[in-house]
Amino acid sequence: MKTSVDQLVSPFDVSALRRDFPILQTETRPGKPLVYLDNGATSQKPLKVIEAERNYYLHQNSNVHRGVHYLSDLATRAFESTRDEVASYIGASKREEVIFTKGTTEAINLVANTFGRKFLNPGDEVIISGMEHHANIVPWHMVREWSGIEVKAIPVTGDGELDMETFHTLLSSKTKLVAVTHVSNTLGTINPVKRIVEAAHAVGAAVLVDGAQAMPHMQVDVQDLGVDFYVFSSHKVFGPTGVGVLYGKSHWLEALPPYQGGGDMIDVVTLQNTTFNAPPHRFEAGTPNIAGVVAFGEAIQYLKNVDLQAAARHEHALLSAATEQVLEQGFRVIGQSSNKVSVLSFISDFCHPSDVGTLLDMEGIAVRTGHHCTQPLMSRFGIPGTIRASFAFYNTMEEVERFGAALKKAVTMLK
Ligand code: PMP
Repeated sequence: MKTSVDQLVSPFDVSALRRDFPILQTETRPGKPLVYLDNGATSQKPLKVIEAERNYYLHQNSNVHRGVHYLSDLATRAFESTRDEVASYIGASKREEVIFTKGTTEAINLVANTFGRKFLNPGDEVIISGMEHHANIVPWHMVREWSGIEVKAIPVTGDGELDMETFHTLLSSKTKLVAVTHVSNTLGTINPVKRIVEAAHAVGAAVLVDGAQAMPHMQVDVQDLGVDFYVFSSHKVFGPTGVGVLYGKSHWLEALPPYQGGGDMIDVVTLQNTTFNAPPHRFEAGTPNIAGVVAFGEAIQYLKNVDLQAAARHEHALLSAATEQVLEQGFRVIGQSSNKVSVLSFISDFCHPSDVGTLLDMEGIAVRTGHHCTQPLMSRFGIPGTIRASFAFYNTMEEVERFGAALKKAVTMLK
């Protein structure tokens, strides 16, 4: 049975939310209103976030931490208040457990390099998974080059889930870190993070979770999950690009050496020697993306006002309706876990993903095509790439219907 907009009985007021996002009211071509289904790549920004960045440059701009003057104090407070917002939003036990980075990628590289230098020795093992984004694969390969560790991967089942049985057989006293994604950017699968943490901790291994795709869809509590490190990007949670978060349990952060050297991360510098600042500043060398961090604080405040459970119900209705449309047009869905977020990857033998993406774009519909920075996952399924429609809470059932109609048109042209 088809899911229709009438069945969306929820207190969730999509029209009101959409008014907060000016870009959603635009057309990409004459008569083709934007249908933005590329939220997995980056989300759109509410006006409040855009205005916060503008307001920062108009009224608060100064460098942080090092000044005694009025503006520097204002900028420092605005910057640091985002740290408080993030810490409370993700359930960190202290504000000092929140490090600002450029994004998920930099946060993972930070852990790989610092944890690698301090705690990884030849023969040690790091376990990743077969559904990781390249950002959680390549840094570990790079660490392997100089540390002599082994990198092992949890296989992915045909449904697009982690093969947990094999995971347990990979764990041993050699395992020092398990680095896995919370939600797959290609499949949408939500991984059993708590079970992974329990098993990893039982052999004395730390756990890093890539939360880039989880944060836009669910309320994350890092203490409840029990993770040692949790990383995500502002731009996927309705904030600006160029800002990300590394959450780390304070005993780990205290123990880790600095990542980059420079201003702000030091205690005392002589020409012979440097001593280092405490976390979080030890890991924040140089002038950060102050405006971005300030506006990110606004994005977190915005998210706090969204009922994420109602949003998830709404997104699931969109996902099932879109899945029906895709199957009706003869496509195959890659990623069939019963526990997934609103990410829909699909392919067919009769057309190339990029041709479908281009034809959808002609109708104003933005999807992503290709390997989605998950080449090992593509190899696992023996495919070059997929077409990926990824939904946010501001998408509507009408948009799914337009997506279905455009897909039908594209198939008629390509078959
Ligand atoms: N991990 C996952 C699961 C992602 O989806 C992405 C972004 N596509 C990244 C890491 C990298 O994020 P960023 O480019 O913001 O650093």
